Amino acid sequence: MMKQIEQVARWITQAKRVVVFGGAGLSTESGIPDFRSPGGVWDKYDPEDFYYQKFISSEASREKYWQMATEMYEPMKKAQPNPAHLAIAELEKLGKLDCVITQNIDGLHHKAGNSEEKIIELHGTAMHVTCLNCKKRYDRDQIQKRIRSGIKVPYCDDCGGPLKPATISFGQSMPERETEEAYHRSSSCDLFIVIGSSLVVQPAASMPLVAKRNGAKLVIINRDPTPYDDLADMVIHGQAGLTMAAILDLVREGLGIAGR
Ligand code: NAD
Repeated sequence: MMKQIEQVARWITQAKRVVVFGGAGLSTESGIPDFRSPGGVWDKYDPEDFYYQKFISSEASREKYWQMATEMYEPMKKAQPNPAHLAIAELEKLGKLDCVITQNIDGLHHKAGNSEEKIIELHGTAMHVTCLNCKKRYDRDQIQKRIRSGIKVPYCDDCGGPLKPATISFGQSMPERETEEAYHRSSSCDLFIVIGSSLVVQPAASMPLVAKRNGAKLVIINRDPTPYDDLADMVIHGQAGLTMAAILDLVREGLGIAGR
């Protein structure tokens, strides 16, 4: 594994545009379960209940959704960035990060110190709430306060439309600006590093293909195999935190910067 880590560090040092592409596996070491691993979200909840069409179909579905979303939000809000998030934030400080494209909704790249313009949230964020009708945006905590006070389904102050966490549910269209930006960055990078994603959710999972087709090197750091392992220039089946911390140390060494 050390040889692979050294190679990835060397590629980062040499690359002009490094894109990091993260999934739920990047945040499991922060205590947020992923979807598909044992003990993950799909062991506890029925994926059907997360569909957008279901959310808009009835008051009862919205109530169920808000109940699940509240249960998931509380621990997410308390979670702290782990060494993988911190390493990615450090890559930005070293001038070695074009952007981080994330499928996560937990806001941990912001907490780790990456700047707003470097973070592309493909599946939205759980830290805000939007009105499905007039698109008014609310801070999530403000709405959670209403839920705690006994309101089961929150509605917009301005137009009365249904409020939903600003995350992209199954069946909901992808955010246009973020998706375009992610494709653009993926196609113009020279190193694309996947961290903690099963790479099965579309269209997010097509980003590594776009990068590879445009000549980038593809690195996959994931605990379990992914459908794109055969296509990658390097696959590391390991923990995101440990692997990224080790890579960062070698990048610093390669750039002639003393370690922490
Ligand atoms: P996924 O659950 O399909 O896959 C996670 C992958 O990460 C798995 O292949 C697993 O082997 C790997 N993994 C788990 N822990 C790891 C670790 N510590 N180090 C390295 N690899 C690890 O998740 P996905 O590919 O991101 O796609 C599913 C959807 O999950 C996304 O749309 C995302 O929005 C959503 N999601 C987000 C969060 C979050 O915001 N933290 C949490 C759960 C789900």
